[in-house]
Amino acid sequence: MKLINQLYKFATLLAKKRSIFLIGCFFILLSLSSLNFNGTPEYKESTLQNQINIAKISINDYPEINQDSKQVIIVKRNDSLISILNRANINRESIKKLIRAKNSKLLTKIKIGEKFIIKSNMSGDLKELIYQKQLTKGVEVKLLNAEYLVKPYKRETEIMPIYKKVVIEESLYVDGLKAKIPDSVIMDMAYIYGWDIDFTYDLRPGDSYSLIYEEILLDGERIKNGDILIAKFYFQGKELIATRFDQENGKSEYFSPNGDNMKKAFLRSPVNFSYISSRYNLKRKHPILYKIKAHTGVDYAAAKGSPVIATGDGTISYSSLKGGYGNLVEIKHSEDYATRYAHLNKIHKRASLGKKVKQGEVIGYVGKTGMATGYHLHYEFHVNGRHTNPLTVKFPNAKPVEKNELKNYTLNFLSRKKMIDNYEKLESRNEEI
Ligand SMILES: [Zn+2]
Repeated sequence: MKLINQLYKFATLLAKKRSIFLIGCFFILLSLSSLNFNGTPEYKESTLQNQINIAKISINDYPEINQDSKQVIIVKRNDSLISILNRANINRESIKKLIRAKNSKLLTKIKIGEKFIIKSNMSGDLKELIYQKQLTKGVEVKLLNAEYLVKPYKRETEIMPIYKKVVIEESLYVDGLKAKIPDSVIMDMAYIYGWDIDFTYDLRPGDSYSLIYEEILLDGERIKNGDILIAKFYFQGKELIATRFDQENGKSEYFSPNGDNMKKAFLRSPVNFSYISSRYNLKRKHPILYKIKAHTGVDYAAAKGSPVIATGDGTISYSSLKGGYGNLVEIKHSEDYATRYAHLNKIHKRASLGKKVKQGEVIGYVGKTGMATGYHLHYEFHVNGRHTNPLTVKFPNAKPVEKNELKNYTLNFLSRKKMIDNYEKLESRNEEI
């Protein structure tokens, strides 16, 4: 009978796995019938033993049945605490008990996308719950003396500065990735320097950049990339330093050592550098573009359909076909400044005549309409109605560091400058060894 009991227990353990439960019932019926109708217990015992051996094999197939299970549930539209607990198969007693628990209100203001980690046993008793509002904070529920203890939690993150130096052979982007700089950080570099450097035309092999950016760690693992603290760009024999500064108005921006904003009224390039055609070869001898190209702008070879962005805020003053230009968009930025984007495959609907566009917004897509032999963007920059070389024109700066914050800024800049200089020294010493 002991063995029958064991079998019975096993069968109930597997109650949730219905088919196995049925097999279990079959075993029990079989053993009961053999007990009733067969007179030799030794024989029955050995038959039961065989069945138990089979049972042992199948129990190994379901190791989780002896453990609490853990479920991760992401909050969806119209979810409530109760719908989530129901989805996790938590039983009614546990749900009632949790709702009655002190502080349970902390669990009710849930938002789409938040995460619940729910631990329960086979009978649906809630054992533990973590309601993750953000990566580092939320509310946790634990069992203490058969009652639920609900309280907020916060996990501490660590910030680690990372130094990298990249010598450019192919491009800012490709060589940055090779140096294992995260994509998002390279994009930030492009943003910070995109006002001063045209990554297609200004860079040569051997130019380089170095930077310190933050990595945010939770329990020793990187959870996200923080901001660039300071960066240096060396190109054409020049050095451009940019430092991040948290201003009193709450905005963080990048400034040059003397406090000028890195941001300008215009972006250097109307095509994002990552779309620039690979046909362009950095290793070729750099032409003095403006003289060699007798025409009145700069050409950016890029794949068909690459997005073209407004280099500055303004109003669309032309948006249609225009002879050799093909599909042309012209933006009037002020009384003095205008830009033109030609040969577009398609014009974006936000760039129709008279509409206002913001810097960085897509106004069209690279094509070869009009007089163009291959896919490229022809870009012109006009100052006071005259063609001006967009590669060399001086752009007005955005707001510099406020006068009353300048002292603070300078201290901040100097300490970060020291930091990056030290890394560079260390690195060159390592290279010597
Ligand atoms: Zn052109």
